Amino acid sequence: MAAFAPPGAPRPNSNNNDPSQQPPHNYNPNLNPNSLAANFNNLNLNRPPPNSAPRPSPFGQAPHFPSSVPPPGVPSGSPPFSRPGPPPAAVARPAPQPQQPTLPPNAAPVRPTGPPIGHPSSPFASRPPPGTFPSSMGGNVPPAYGAPGGPVVSSPSPPPPLGSHPNYASPPFATSPVMPQPRSSAPSGFVSNGPPAFSSGVLPGGPRFPPAGNVQQPPVGPPSTMGFAGAPPQAPSMRSLLRSPMVAQPGPPVQPAPPFSAPVQGVPPPPGSYGAPAWQMQPGQATPPLPMPGSAQPPRMFGMPPHPLPNQSMTSIPPMGQTGAPASATSKIDPNQIPRPIPSSSAIMYETRQGNQANPPPPATSDYIVRDTGNCSPRYMRCTISQIPCTGDLLTTSGMQLALLVQPLALPHPSEEPIQVVDFGEIGPVRCSRCKAYINPFMKFIDQGRRFICNFCGFTDETPRDYHCNLGPDGRRRDADERPELCRGTVEFVATKEYMVRDPMPAVYFFLIDVSMNAIQTGATAAACSAISQVISDLPEGPRTMVGIATFDSTIHFYNLKRALQQPLMLIVPDVQDVYTPLQTDVVVQLSECRQHLELLLESIPTMFQNNRTAESAFGAAVQAAFLAIKSTGGKLLVFQSVLPSTGIGALSVREAEGRTNISAGEKEAHKLLQPVDKTLKTMAIEFAEYQVCVDVFITTQSYLDVASISVIPRTTGGQVYYYYPFSALSDPAKLYNDLRWNVTRPQGFEAVMRVRCSQGIQVQDYHGNFCKRIPTDVDLPGIDCDKTIMVSLKHDDKLQDGSECAFQCALLYTTVYGQRRIRVTTLSLPCTNMLSNLFRSADLDTQFACFLKQAASKIPSTPLLQVREQVTNLCISVLLSYRKFCATVTSSGQLILPEALKLLPLYTLALMKSTGLRNDGRIDERSIWINYVSALSTPLAIPLVYPRMVAIHNLGSKDEDESLVPPVIPLSSEHVSDEGIYLLENGENCLIYIGNLVDSNILQQLFNISPSDEIPTQFVLQQYDNPLSKKLNELVNEIRRQRCSYLSMKLCKKGDPSGTLFFSYLVEDKSPSGPSYVEFLVHVHREIQVKMSS
Ligand SMILES: [Zn+2]
Repeated sequence: MAAFAPPGAPRPNSNNNDPSQQPPHNYNPNLNPNSLAANFNNLNLNRPPPNSAPRPSPFGQAPHFPSSVPPPGVPSGSPPFSRPGPPPAAVARPAPQPQQPTLPPNAAPVRPTGPPIGHPSSPFASRPPPGTFPSSMGGNVPPAYGAPGGPVVSSPSPPPPLGSHPNYASPPFATSPVMPQPRSSAPSGFVSNGPPAFSSGVLPGGPRFPPAGNVQQPPVGPPSTMGFAGAPPQAPSMRSLLRSPMVAQPGPPVQPAPPFSAPVQGVPPPPGSYGAPAWQMQPGQATPPLPMPGSAQPPRMFGMPPHPLPNQSMTSIPPMGQTGAPASATSKIDPNQIPRPIPSSSAIMYETRQGNQANPPPPATSDYIVRDTGNCSPRYMRCTISQIPCTGDLLTTSGMQLALLVQPLALPHPSEEPIQVVDFGEIGPVRCSRCKAYINPFMKFIDQGRRFICNFCGFTDETPRDYHCNLGPDGRRRDADERPELCRGTVEFVATKEYMVRDPMPAVYFFLIDVSMNAIQTGATAAACSAISQVISDLPEGPRTMVGIATFDSTIHFYNLKRALQQPLMLIVPDVQDVYTPLQTDVVVQLSECRQHLELLLESIPTMFQNNRTAESAFGAAVQAAFLAIKSTGGKLLVFQSVLPSTGIGALSVREAEGRTNISAGEKEAHKLLQPVDKTLKTMAIEFAEYQVCVDVFITTQSYLDVASISVIPRTTGGQVYYYYPFSALSDPAKLYNDLRWNVTRPQGFEAVMRVRCSQGIQVQDYHGNFCKRIPTDVDLPGIDCDKTIMVSLKHDDKLQDGSECAFQCALLYTTVYGQRRIRVTTLSLPCTNMLSNLFRSADLDTQFACFLKQAASKIPSTPLLQVREQVTNLCISVLLSYRKFCATVTSSGQLILPEALKLLPLYTLALMKSTGLRNDGRIDERSIWINYVSALSTPLAIPLVYPRMVAIHNLGSKDEDESLVPPVIPLSSEHVSDEGIYLLENGENCLIYIGNLVDSNILQQLFNISPSDEIPTQFVLQQYDNPLSKKLNELVNEIRRQRCSYLSMKLCKKGDPSGTLFFSYLVEDKSPSGPSYVEFLVHVHREIQVKMSS
């Protein structure tokens, strides 16, 4: 240890890790500058491909990666930050020359000499399973929430309407004892089909629309317009709250991480993960529609006073017309009056607490800048409701669910103050001695600062002598404002030895590449090699960075990368049943020692195997062998797979029946194809997780791969699945490269374990996401990055006090890429309430919808689609019914009254039902990919996934220079799509550009260099031509990439062909084979509520 320093004070030389490695002492993984600036600067690979041949030869033609132009708003040139080591730009590299194979294919194989490996040679081989980490995190202590509470409020009586799916919040209404029921006598009948007539008006108490009359459902009535007086967005009110967002607050003890100097307008790219299905359909194949997101954000009520008046905000939709309009076809509803998301145009300043009260967060999809004034930033953790119901009964009555969405390494906005790193020295962070909660702003110091009361379990501890401080007149410690752990919702503690079972692991990257015949012939191998070769320079610098590489078909080929050898030496492992790793010490070597050999090898691989005729793939065995190679340290395993694994351990078969690429809901048991075929890969994955190996799989294929089985490995190890289908050597390499680059450069950590603690009265029910769980209280994350989000469902085990606060604390113990052990502690304290109306007022739509989405996705593999859709609809209806029944002041049953905060819930619910995951048509693998994507999806990307953003791009040129780069959002309805227009639709992962039939040929020529008579190219690469329109389009696409942290797959669509069908399938407000129109759905919801009200 270095010289003693007071707890919490900056400690010189406290980095007791390998000194030769020089991460900044207070290195903050969230602030990895290269990740942020360089990455997205380099996303714009819009240059023309090297040649226009549709499909370049798979060999020797590395995809051309043009140098990038920084998108506007992003500093150009090298980022203003510096990370140890030169930040490499992702500039185009000349395609590797097809060289003479340095190794004859499969020739001169060196038989592995060593013993069949994998065993104890390494000091870590037998390290205790990660489950032991928790001990230092409090694992030995009884969890706070486990504590027996007082009289436990038993779960609400009424059975969940959703049947036997307990995961869904159970919204029993029948028994809601809490609120008085407004009289609702009139069940207005329902009109059979057809939109009822609505009239608009405003009811007292909030923006709503007066019923056209509250008569029950009459026969067909004249169509009136349905008017919605949506509440005006309230966002802007927040702006003035923050006077000096960037003031450096931290007092002396703090060691601020490097500040961002990026301009404020550089909107923080919402983290995104990938996984959405590819856009390009194979010829003749039905086009499964993919969801696209929109970044539209619903007007929300964040920022409203903590105790708003009841019923003050609601939106009511007039009933079906006075006379009960039978929805005659003539009914005309003004679609412009339906609640729709209203994007906010500028960044909102947001303080997490004001006046000692929690401030409800802005919409996750909005652009906001946080000032942490005690509660954590909503980027790291947000709750489905910003006030906590005092009892489980109250929660049940509301129909809502209580859950947290935790994204512990989320990217901050460039203008936000960096997270403070606090070092308590050898004593480690101060914690409650009973529940092990970490010191936070809500622990109360008493007795002149000599003792403190835990805000989680109520236990009173002695203040450690070195941490003592007197209290001021306000009862707070006098040093509270100078200590981040006492005034910030998020801090990062330097971990002591107590938090380690071994030295923090190095950064290890092992690349595993499919070289089977198909992979070679489609160009997938060449694309993978080129991408890897280019990201090598982006790996963390330092002696602790290790790399390894192997290729495989029906056997596995390792390469000895030792410097002494002139050329990489291939080592073949032919046994794919009982796998071992040759020369363990030489196949994973320090990056600094093998950089050149690695590059040479990567250039050679496509040529070495160019004549490979082996069609089989030993995926499972190869992954196992690679795991053995890095088992002693743990690390990241990046696998590039192109065909169905057909041999060796974990071999799979084509479960999807021949010729049956579209599984309809009518086919019973279809969902079983979405489950892993057996437990083989899962068992392997659990072992990988135990040894801190995180696996990412890049699927570059043109056929069925059984994603459902393969994806078990990434999901269990904190990894991710990427999907390029059908893989195109023309359009996919750029995306593959950018995805890989973001994968290795984004802020991330290794060998992590996470636990969420709650105040007495609430406990964690379950965790949901990509991780491995060995004990109920913790999740193990061999890898965790800024994009990964974990849903934490909560339940009551006791009553909470009205007016008190309930706190949640997420502790993530992890190792940075520079080998520092850290504990990121995120704390959120929210008020408790007995008022149902408060719950509705503080409902967080984005978070609630993200939970809906994740729960629905997790049901798909075990439940017929039809049932999942019903459950989703019922959830939506339950929430709205509760509000209608207990909170709405209006007595007319003829109105559909929506709580202001959740008025877009019906729209997003409908969009969810029409999404790739829940609609009937579509390929099995695409549905699996969707499920995987959703599993770890962040809150800001949840709504965009199902409700994409659509903008017109044919008139980009007419915009004023100073307007936002992103044009106004257009509702997802075909009424807004003109034949003369060109539209861009994106959901954070995929981007469709629709070209109308009557588009001005000039515009078409300028944007895409094609004429109306030309075929729309199926494989599209966005290019920039020398005209202002093209330039603007490129700027727009780059801006979207930056916002989404995703490169986006691009596709052109034209009316009348499958691509057009695909595009229109995203217009979720239209009636389609996959569901009713938005208006029809509102009518349905209204009808259901009326029926339930009257029953
Ligand atoms: Zn405690």
